[in-house]
Amino acid sequence: MQKKLIPKKSKPEELDEEDAKKPAKGTPELLRGFRDILPEEQGRWNLIRDTVRALAEAYSFDRIDLPVLERSDLFQRTIGKSTDIVEKEMYVFTDPSNRSVALRPEATASAARAYIEHGMLERPQPVKFWYEGPMFRHDRPQAGRYRQFYQAGLEVFGAEEPIIDAQLILIGKKFFEAIGLPVKVQINSIGTPECRSAYLTELVSYFRPFRSKLPEDDKRRLQKNPLRLLDSKEEYTMGLLGDAPQILDWLDEKSKEHFMRVIEFLDEVEIPYELNAHLVRGLDYYTHTVFEFMPEGEEGEKAQSALGGGGRYDGLVGLLGGRPTPGCGFAIGMDRIARALADKGINPPQCPPAQVFFAQLGDAARRVGLRLYEQFRAAGIPVAEAAGKNALKAQLEVANKLGVGLTLILGQKEVLDGTIIIRDMESGAQETIDASKVVSVVERKLQKESGVTPAIHSPVSDV
Ligand code: AMP
Repeated sequence: MQKKLIPKKSKPEELDEEDAKKPAKGTPELLRGFRDILPEEQGRWNLIRDTVRALAEAYSFDRIDLPVLERSDLFQRTIGKSTDIVEKEMYVFTDPSNRSVALRPEATASAARAYIEHGMLERPQPVKFWYEGPMFRHDRPQAGRYRQFYQAGLEVFGAEEPIIDAQLILIGKKFFEAIGLPVKVQINSIGTPECRSAYLTELVSYFRPFRSKLPEDDKRRLQKNPLRLLDSKEEYTMGLLGDAPQILDWLDEKSKEHFMRVIEFLDEVEIPYELNAHLVRGLDYYTHTVFEFMPEGEEGEKAQSALGGGGRYDGLVGLLGGRPTPGCGFAIGMDRIARALADKGINPPQCPPAQVFFAQLGDAARRVGLRLYEQFRAAGIPVAEAAGKNALKAQLEVANKLGVGLTLILGQKEVLDGTIIIRDMESGAQETIDASKVVSVVERKLQKESGVTPAIHSPVSDV
């Protein structure tokens, strides 16, 4: 059923040479640029997800979930036909109904579509969304650059005041503070499409004499999307940027005023920022303020290492045929943030480790164990077990490996007597108690050990 599943204009033999080398038979492996986020990484991901959610809710953003598949023209019309994303990186294919569809490369365009499609202009403005989920770009995979990656983002529709831009930057900064990653804010203004077009004429005239010496990619940019020359990574082009005209000098009065006010608000809340005249962000829909969060201490302006970015997009809703509505937002790159946390040795546990282990001997004990689990779950005490093992010795070995404080042992005799054994794993001391009291006895023992009430948590942590 599935048709053409390669991005337009890509050279599959070049981009996927490693995939192509893999044997067609045997165990299927991951596609290049895709990866599994393993259980041992989930602690960091939970930290990121929980922090985004807490902040978004604190600033009254409503969660929205958007589909990963959209009509491809949604992105062509908004991100822009001459951008790298649309030209080279989108997973575009024809679906079984013969429609051209794309795996979303980002979510702002979808948020704008949803805003229009659900008549949200009629709601009290601004409408504030937050989301998280996978995005897809068929870019060259490298460190911190994947073909499926995750973003969390905040979008505000229906407000043009500069305070919105400043508050979004503030929220981003607070997010990074909260998870323990210091970042620098880089900021610029790219004005309105009108002042940008006058600036672009000037920029093209500046670069034209050097055209023949420009690297191929930048020659193409000069012709199709000259603004992107400003964030070129090519040494030759970067050498020319020092004397290139700067967009800030071409802003009209209204754009200048908007930018100045954003900066004043940032000063007011003491958010340090760096003006970066070369920051343009890749997408056509941006207007006025653009910003990025760069990891602090790192050789900065390589767009590739940005941990997040965003800006104002006052024309976006209009581009999609909706009533012109201003907007502003940003997204953070969750994969890069998780990596940065790992580099700093920040590795919170995925969930509180179980402090109690349940060892059973025989079927009757297994059955009683099922009920017991429910009682511990209701009390919020996680219990581990090794249901596949029968011998007590083997089960105690697992309990030891897990480092639990207490093991509950239930054999045939205890089932018949209505009792259960509690073993203190450190001292090896065992006592037999009335099975109906086991939860409260364990609760007491755990409180004594830690001095706190056990955390509420799901019941089973499988071994
Ligand atoms: P963008 O709007 O393209 O700047 O994306 C926002 C953030 O998402 C970036 O600052 C990165 O942290 C992250 N990001 C973008 N593309 C990728 C990718 N291919 N792999 C991993 N993270 C990415």
